[in-house]
Amino acid sequence: MIPFNKPYLTGKETQYIEEAVKTGKISGNGLFTQKCQNFFEEQYGFKKVLLTTSCTDALEMCAILANIQVGDEVIMPSFTFVSTAIAFVRQGAKIVFADSLPDNPNIDISKIEPLITSKTKAIVPVHYAGIACDMDSIMALADKYNLLVIEDAAQAIDSFYKGKALGSIGHMAAFSFHETKNIIAGEGGMIAINDERFINRAEIIWEKGTNRAEFFRGEVNKYGWVDTGSSFLPSEVIAAFLWAQIENLQFIQKKRISHWNYYHNGLKTWAQKNNIKTMSIPDNATNNGHMFYLVCKSFEQRSNLIEYLKKESVLAVFHYISLHSSPYYKDKHDARELINSDLFTDRLLRLPMFYELDVENVVKKIVKYE
Ligand SMILES: *Cc1c(COP(=O)(O)O)cnc(C)c1O
Repeated sequence: MIPFNKPYLTGKETQYIEEAVKTGKISGNGLFTQKCQNFFEEQYGFKKVLLTTSCTDALEMCAILANIQVGDEVIMPSFTFVSTAIAFVRQGAKIVFADSLPDNPNIDISKIEPLITSKTKAIVPVHYAGIACDMDSIMALADKYNLLVIEDAAQAIDSFYKGKALGSIGHMAAFSFHETKNIIAGEGGMIAINDERFINRAEIIWEKGTNRAEFFRGEVNKYGWVDTGSSFLPSEVIAAFLWAQIENLQFIQKKRISHWNYYHNGLKTWAQKNNIKTMSIPDNATNNGHMFYLVCKSFEQRSNLIEYLKKESVLAVFHYISLHSSPYYKDKHDARELINSDLFTDRLLRLPMFYELDVENVVKKIVKYE
């Protein structure tokens, strides 16, 4: 069976973990953590990066930093992972779901403005498949209504919008290093902070509400409990693993993008013949090879294609069930229909994508389906 995902190991992971263990300091914020954080800040122009134990954690940090209170409203797409919403729901926010664009699952900017009220605090765009949302329009809306923008960039490492790295445009952003993402640490993530107002408090929230970071920089002479927070920082074992991945980031990206291009070219004619849409990249965005998906002409066609591929030993999978119709949130949703979000729930199909994939073999099998 060709799996949907297979974690890629560069070969150095265990060596770096061993190095971390030998230093005698394997709790968080050690040398590997700092190496990783510095790399991301320099490479992508984030003002401050803190590694976290997941992207979900990074989103929770964002919700705390944005000072989301009970009754506040947060606007986001419905076609996203549960973590995008749950981080804000835990703070007591009401989630106001906006529909996706007709031709890709990113939030439809034209649907946002009518949803803004005096209670709206933040917009959370999700760069689905690593493809940029129209950030200029989102930032303009945020400016106009004095809102915060938190990018869910879980899938968007090494992807750009008009030359700017995704995650560097909003006030803050969250990334994932879960084993299904481009670079991995098993479970892992990071928060990127671009608005300096939030940096100091982020360090405190990260370290259980203490000003430990200031203390170690010699800025205060003792540290203690000064704010809310949690233990959001990963151990050095995780950071060491991640460092091995970072060192190979460009190889990984090159390979994934080459698989993506093979799918894109190899499936074009077949897709047209079967009334299936393939992914396209907007002019102002780049492709980071995170995912290759198809949009089938119907739910039935998608089910048939999944079945056919299973028989051919290829595992293709659908993706999110729109959050506004989830068991947990459907009664809290305001009953607006989100047609495009539901369309992607029913028709989007993700093809296998991982470093060691034999993409030619998969394409050969797909084009035999009619
Ligand atoms: C993977 C993912 C997350 C969650 O990441 P974790 O690191 O598993 O917490 C959140 N949002 C989106 C869009 C994702 O793809």
